[in-house]
Amino acid sequence: MTRKRSTKTVDRNPAGWPLAEYDRGYPGVQKCRSVLDRAAKGLLPCDELTVWRVRTSTRGLVATGYFCDQHLPQQAP
Ligand SMILES: [Zn+2]
Repeated sequence: MTRKRSTKTVDRNPAGWPLAEYDRGYPGVQKCRSVLDRAAKGLLPCDELTVWRVRTSTRGLVATGYFCDQHLPQQAP
């Protein structure tokens, strides 16, 4: 099996990650990424503070997700 060529960077911001500049006008911090999973299960969105930022870089494409302590995905060993 070939491993996918991607690197993952995880940063923690105890105060929560602020919204991007172009999102000004919305108060507060990033929303927890689990919101989509939860919506699919009919659960209410997660309102926990998003202290984790996960950036996954795959062949030059960077995907960024924000998670609260509870919903941070398990890290691959
Ligand atoms: Zn969450």
